[in-house]
Amino acid sequence: MIIYLDGRFVPEEEARVSVFDHGLLYGDGVFEGIRAYNGKIFRLDEHLARLYDSAKAIDLAIPLTKAEMAEVIKETLRQNSLRDAYIRPIVTRGKGDLGLDPLKCAKPTVIVIAVTWGAMYGDLYDNGLRAICVSVRRTPPESMPPNVKSLNYLNNILAKIEANYRGVDEAIFFDTKGHVSEGSGDNIFVVKDGVIITPPTLNNLRGITRMVVLEIAASMGITVLERDLGYFDLYTADEVFVTGTAAEVAPIREIDGRVIGNGKPGPITRQLMAAFRTATQKDGTPIEG
Ligand code: PMP
Repeated sequence: MIIYLDGRFVPEEEARVSVFDHGLLYGDGVFEGIRAYNGKIFRLDEHLARLYDSAKAIDLAIPLTKAEMAEVIKETLRQNSLRDAYIRPIVTRGKGDLGLDPLKCAKPTVIVIAVTWGAMYGDLYDNGLRAICVSVRRTPPESMPPNVKSLNYLNNILAKIEANYRGVDEAIFFDTKGHVSEGSGDNIFVVKDGVIITPPTLNNLRGITRMVVLEIAASMGITVLERDLGYFDLYTADEVFVTGTAAEVAPIREIDGRVIGNGKPGPITRQLMAAFRTATQKDGTPIEG
């Protein structure tokens, strides 16, 4: 595997980062998760915009232009002969000392990893995921905006640990005000009486898959609402699904023991899964050129 690290394409064994890197010491940095399908990078511009916005929000200057970063991502795919891939650009504050002051970090570390990663949830796309509402709350935007896709994912990992202990596939976060936020690594939607509803994005990550699914739903003539949701909306939904670059569109069949709908992926979810798959095969930035 060939990794991009600070201006060079190197074998994985040579892709070494300092133990004084603040990405490691403090989770001080940002990242993206992007997929390429069939030789094309899906929604690359949107992912780059979010990466640079996340960096700006934490006052981190990425030492590459967006165009240069796009080229690095394409070259990483070419170097690894990948046409279908999951791509992980990472920018950390860089090497500093053991104090947390970012002024001690001379220059950011830039990494791009690309791997083969098929359907994240295997046969659960046909059967649906089981989920729980976890007790740990999503980090409030007043403390650390969930819209910053930062390297500090401990909040999300705590949610995942809770789901793991309960033996289910996914965790659903609430915010500190009692509204539904998102999954551990994906956005959440409910379908009720033919209407698709998803929470506004102050208390969750403004997902790019979320945006694509909202576009697809609107183009199908399905009514889409962005409004706050509570437990009641989850438990009584006809359908629930989550969206994310890694997860794609994944149906939820059970939440806190309540069976959602008839316990099978619902018709609107299945329509959106199919339309999303079509979009991923069609749109995108070619890896070559
Ligand atoms: N929420 C969180 C916490 C995530 O990590 C992700 C994955 N990036 C998402 C939502 C979905 O975002 P996207 O569709 O852009 O991958």
